[in-house]
Amino acid sequence: MIAALAVLLQISAAAPVSGAPPSHITVRTASSTGAAPIVRSSAGAFVSASALTRALGGTTSPVENGRFTVDIRGTTVSFVEGVPFARVDSVILPMSAAPYSAAGAAYLPLHFVAELLPRVTTGLYYDVAMAELRVFNTVTQSRPPPSPQSTQPAEERAASPTVASLEVPPRAPRARRTTPRRIVIDAGHGGPDNGMTGPMGGGPRIYEKHITLAVSRQVAEILRAEGIEVVMTRTRDTLIALSDRGRIANRNKADLFISVHVNAAPTTWRNAAQAGRGFETYFLAEAKTEEARRVEQMENESVRFETGANAPKGDPLSFIINDMAQNEHLRESNDLAESIQQGLRRIHPGPNRGVKQANFAVLRTSFMPAVLVEIGFGTNPEEAAFMGDPSKQRVIARAIADGALDYLDHYEQRVGGTR
Ligand SMILES: [Zn+2]
Repeated sequence: MIAALAVLLQISAAAPVSGAPPSHITVRTASSTGAAPIVRSSAGAFVSASALTRALGGTTSPVENGRFTVDIRGTTVSFVEGVPFARVDSVILPMSAAPYSAAGAAYLPLHFVAELLPRVTTGLYYDVAMAELRVFNTVTQSRPPPSPQSTQPAEERAASPTVASLEVPPRAPRARRTTPRRIVIDAGHGGPDNGMTGPMGGGPRIYEKHITLAVSRQVAEILRAEGIEVVMTRTRDTLIALSDRGRIANRNKADLFISVHVNAAPTTWRNAAQAGRGFETYFLAEAKTEEARRVEQMENESVRFETGANAPKGDPLSFIINDMAQNEHLRESNDLAESIQQGLRRIHPGPNRGVKQANFAVLRTSFMPAVLVEIGFGTNPEEAAFMGDPSKQRVIARAIADGALDYLDHYEQRVGGTR
C-alpha cells in the first residue's frame, strides 16, 4: 500500500499541469516526437485516429458506412462508429466508449490508445502520467525464431515446461490488501452431471466434477489465506443449476466469479487424445470461433440435468446488446481471463490456448467480472494424470489464485486503491 501511494505521488508530481487533464498525447519514437490532440465530450476522452497513426507511421482508412480501420506497426484494428468494441482478427476488445467520426475524421477512445493498443501491438508503451505513447525497439526482447535445423519437434517446443520439470516459481510477497474482496469459486458440474470423463484410450479414469471440486477447494483455501473472502457455489458432489451459480455470486455481492472446468477433445478430431492439450480461459461474449462454440455447447449441456423451476427459459442470442449489466464488465472479465492465463502459463505442461469468448450459461447471470477456466484436457492421458494428481491440483489452484490476486492488485493500482 505504501508503495502504491508512492507511485501515486510520483504520478501527480510528474503530471504536466497539476489537476488539469492533458490536452494531447505525445507520441515518442526513436527518431521523432509527435502529438495527437485529446478531444473531450460527455462520453469521455478521444484521440484523432489519423493524428495518432501519422505520429506512429501507420495509416487510418477513410470512414465508410460508419466503418474504418487503423494500421499500426503491422496490426490492423477495425472499428464501427457507435460500437464500443475494437476488432483485431477474430478477437473483440471491449472499449470504455464507442469511436465516432466528425467531418470525415475518426476519433478513438483514449482508453483504446492507453490500454488496448499496447496489448495488441508490439513495442508500444503508454505512460499515463506523461500522457505519452512510446515506441521502443523490441528486437532485443523478442526471442529468435526457431531455427529450421532444430531437431526438436515443434510439438515439444510448444509444450514447455514438461510435467517432470514442474516447479512453482517463487514470487514476491504481496502487499497487504486494504479493500475487502469477495470471490465466488464455482466448481463445474456435480451430482448426476459428471462433466467430461477421460482420458481417451485408457489410463486412470477421471471425472470432471471431482477435479473441479478438488481444485476449487484449493483455490478457496489459498485465497482465504491471502485475506480474500471466498464463497463456493458447491462444496459437495451436488448439482447446482447453471443460472443459480451466477445468482449465488450476485447475492453475495462478489467482486469476481471464477468457474473451473476440464476440457474434452471431441472424438471427431484427428488423433483427439493427443490433439487436445492445454488451458484456456473464457469470458462471456458471443463465441467467435468453431472451437469456442464447441466448448460453449459442451459446458451448456449441463442444463439437461436441470428440471422444473431451475430450467432456463429461452436463450437470448442478442445478449451482448441486451444485457448491459454483464456488458459493462466485459473489459474487466477479459483482463481477469488474461491474468489467470498468465498464472497457468507458469505451471502448465500443455500449450497456452489463450483467452477466448463464448456465451456460457454459467457466466450469463453473474453481474461482475466473470470467467470460465478450462484447466486442461481430460481426454489427454498426460493432462488427465496431471489434473488428477492432488499435488498438481494444488499447483493449478495456486496459479488460478495468483491470476485472480494479480488482477485485483492491478485493478486496485489502477483505481488508486479504492473502489
Ligand atoms: Zn465443464
